[in-house]
Amino acid sequence: MILILNPAITPSDAAYQTLVHYLEGLPGIRVQSHVIQGEERRLTELYLLGATSTLDTSVMAGFEAVDRVIRVSEEYRILGRHADLSRRSGFEYQGLQFNQSSFHVFAGLCAVDHREHVEHMMRALKAAGQQCTRMGAYKPRTNPYAFQGHGAECLPYVFELAGKYDIKVVAMEITHEDHITEIESALEQTGNPTGVMLQIGTRNTQNFELLKSVGRQSRFPILFKRGFGVSLNESLNAAEYLASEGNSNVIFCLRGMKTEGAAPHRNLVDFAQVPLVKRLTRMPICVDPSHSVGDRGRSPEGVLEIAHAAAQGVVAGANMVLVDFHPNPAEALVDGPQALLMSELEPFLEDMARCHDFFEERVSIWTR
Ligand code: PEP
Ligand code: MN
Repeated sequence: MILILNPAITPSDAAYQTLVHYLEGLPGIRVQSHVIQGEERRLTELYLLGATSTLDTSVMAGFEAVDRVIRVSEEYRILGRHADLSRRSGFEYQGLQFNQSSFHVFAGLCAVDHREHVEHMMRALKAAGQQCTRMGAYKPRTNPYAFQGHGAECLPYVFELAGKYDIKVVAMEITHEDHITEIESALEQTGNPTGVMLQIGTRNTQNFELLKSVGRQSRFPILFKRGFGVSLNESLNAAEYLASEGNSNVIFCLRGMKTEGAAPHRNLVDFAQVPLVKRLTRMPICVDPSHSVGDRGRSPEGVLEIAHAAAQGVVAGANMVLVDFHPNPAEALVDGPQALLMSELEPFLEDMARCHDFFEERVSIWTR
């Protein structure tokens, strides 16, 4: 059950305290508070977790602090949209809004290799007016002898360079809870010049213990990748692990499904599910065309297949694009064949911005 509080209510109000005192007295019920910072107002939601089936919605609605009561279904209790289509989504991080209407491109290196490449990328992003990037430091690899990422060692220069080029958010995959501490201390050491979005990779979608640890911290938002070989329902339930531990600042990323049917692409593009995930949940939706398509091929018209795939997601309402670039893909230590060239950054960004505008036009056609 979710109690949406009156926007004017704050935790210091007597009405708030009366409600919380009552809720704390309910046996077998855990209360989790979640504040949603919209562009204009702050909204507090209280999630009641546990044995909620016997609770009476009209009793809850009778409290002065309560605006609306939503009884939620069993699945994705916190991240789900449930019956109330008007519920807000998203969060603010580093002064940027991430919700089901916002749009950001996170272009960057699949894996950090050399400082010069990181600087080259960030300089190009700043010149293109971008404030977000992706930088992989911990790389889960199929082959144990393959480059595993520079790990903690590269974090200080990645963060310093992000600060130097006004990059506000760096998306970075972690594969172990210790990596969160490493990221925190590198940020501390460098004077917090940027923010980090913790990425859960497709290979860890159902690593529930990792999800619980990441969900227990509230400092960093989370970019959660769909599992490449499990159902959508299983991936959404896995994302809910993050929220059930307390962190519901989660972006859900579609990144293609592993099937022979995708060949010669790396994975089968699943971006038709962007609107579906938006309808089922309140998470902002990201698409990763690089790991879906897997190479720099172009259609006969001269457009990159990676851009075509990204466009499919964005005209359908995706809120974020995660995409691999590299100053010299031949030298990239991970995923060189799918990295776009620096000369392709500007056309890619323009293409995506126009696709997002076209999505908004499409909405107005269908809602007039
Ligand atoms: C990545 O984004 O670098 C990555 C490894 O992606 P995925 O987990 O989707 O394979
Ligand atoms: Mn990769």
